[in-house]
Amino acid sequence: MPRDTRHIPAPLSPLPGATGVMCPGVVAFAGSGPGDPDLLTLKVLKALQEADVILFDRLVSAEIMALAHQGALLEDVGKEGFGPSMAQEEICARLVHHARKGRKVLRLKSGDPSLFGRLDEELTACETADVDTVILPGITAASAAVAAIGQSLTQRGRNSSVRFLTGHDMKGFADHDWAQLARPGEVAAVYMGKKSARFVQGRMLMHGADRATPVTVVENASRADQRVLSTTLDQLPADLAAADFGGPALTFLGLAPRQHAAAALPHTRDQTQMELA
Ligand code: SAH
Repeated sequence: MPRDTRHIPAPLSPLPGATGVMCPGVVAFAGSGPGDPDLLTLKVLKALQEADVILFDRLVSAEIMALAHQGALLEDVGKEGFGPSMAQEEICARLVHHARKGRKVLRLKSGDPSLFGRLDEELTACETADVDTVILPGITAASAAVAAIGQSLTQRGRNSSVRFLTGHDMKGFADHDWAQLARPGEVAAVYMGKKSARFVQGRMLMHGADRATPVTVVENASRADQRVLSTTLDQLPADLAAADFGGPALTFLGLAPRQHAAAALPHTRDQTQMELA
């Protein structure tokens, strides 16, 4: 056997890390993942343990906030769907305020901070105020949700691209390239898609989508109370209304769960309700 001469990197330093990830006066924008603390990156865990102040969104789970340093100042700036929330300008002002005091500031968003989290607005506010920033990525909801249904976001011969969409934007229901999305084999992950389900269905059908197109909705992906609804484009609004999902939910257009996925996941075996189409 030829000897493997590849460089083997040194093991990761034990937590808390010898080299910190947070710096005084710098704002770290971090993703907390979809909710399961085991899906935090080590870097974000270190940041939680080092931060002086943490500004977090409503979808960051309580289990994750419990990992924060005991002495850290926690500010709930909860922004979720249509609920009450702190104004964006106020959040930006708080970030700058804390950084200027020389604090290690952690801005914690659910999933990955770069997806549907208004990251750019907060980055711009920091830049304008001459405050340095760093971005610590996280696992986005679509990754956790697709894992929950045992599927792949892309598949050779089916779809060589995948879209991440929002169901609504500042102006109301969000418009997209429906003609493209309606084509057979297309896959899209719809964030904030519960209220827009009927709108999405209407647009897709108007552009020629097959009524039998598989649609899967994963509520509370990666969490103990995860639930999966498997339906079709035709039945989506009715089935979603009947499921009455109260938690965050991710809708996949063009994907059905693999039949054996739920049973194979020990922590979802009991809680997952799968209605296979
Ligand atoms: N930055 C986040 C998305 C924020 S937008 C990310 O990368 O995941 C908020 C939307 O994300 C929710 O309305 C829902 O559609 C989705 N979402 C977040 N966490 C989720 C979870 N655990 N399960 C299902 N969907 C989730």
